[in-house]
Amino acid sequence: MTEQQEFSVTFWGVRGSIACPGPETIRYGGDTSCLEVVCGDRRLILDGGTGLRKLGNKLVRLAPGEIDLFFTHTHFDHVCGLPFFAPLFVPGNSVRLWAGHLLPEHRLRQVLVEMMMAPLFPVPPEIFRAEVAYNDFSCGDTMRPQPDIEIRTGPLNHPNRATGYRIEFDGRAICYITDTEHYADRLDNEILTLIQGADIVIYDATYTDEEYPRFKGFGHSTWQEGMKLADAAGVKTLVIFHHDPSHNDDFMDGVAHRAAELRPGTVVAREGLTLRP
Ligand SMILES: [Zn+2]
Ligand SMILES: [Zn+2]
Repeated sequence: MTEQQEFSVTFWGVRGSIACPGPETIRYGGDTSCLEVVCGDRRLILDGGTGLRKLGNKLVRLAPGEIDLFFTHTHFDHVCGLPFFAPLFVPGNSVRLWAGHLLPEHRLRQVLVEMMMAPLFPVPPEIFRAEVAYNDFSCGDTMRPQPDIEIRTGPLNHPNRATGYRIEFDGRAICYITDTEHYADRLDNEILTLIQGADIVIYDATYTDEEYPRFKGFGHSTWQEGMKLADAAGVKTLVIFHHDPSHNDDFMDGVAHRAAELRPGTVVAREGLTLRP
């Protein structure tokens, strides 16, 4: 029997909307969306929220190399860590940035240049010393950015659009489905197709079902809706993610408790957690 290769996802930021560090969020974490996916001896990053800074501080101590960072979309909570990502300041590093939600109206490079434009930000992307590639793809494309890693993509229901990801490696699948809003009358077929039979699905559960009516149209979903999708698609482990900044540790404990009762094995994402399918 051949050994399984390492395949894991580590959470560096689990919040949506805005970072919320402090004594009330110390256990689940206050940084915004950022995931590290390790595939054998290779590594992908999903989203560049404030959690990206700490991940960069770890990566910068490793040998220079190639880094692929995939954005679900370019709302601030998913990109604002980028200017503080230390590997960008190391000559010899190669950083490839990817986004699938912008074409045809926009380009990733232009969007990030505008984020780092004076007087909103003191220095432009020209400050980066690594070789940086800005790659726009069309949501729905399948990509093989590195050998043996297949990334499938699909559209999510979110203002200004967003891309869902399915990462296939060594016979297993991890899916990253944020930010997205469910539909009132049906399950989202695009998501069902993307997450079919996956080992781990990380899902936008910003709200609870009880809170959701006040936030209809904001582009986010609930953990209860995540369960419906996970059940319908035969998903092994559902991960509750993109926590609302107002949800403190005690609130998240309550969510974890209720979720584990309804679908045993369900995980609430917290900073520093590593999951292996
Ligand atoms: Zn978000
Ligand atoms: Zn968003």
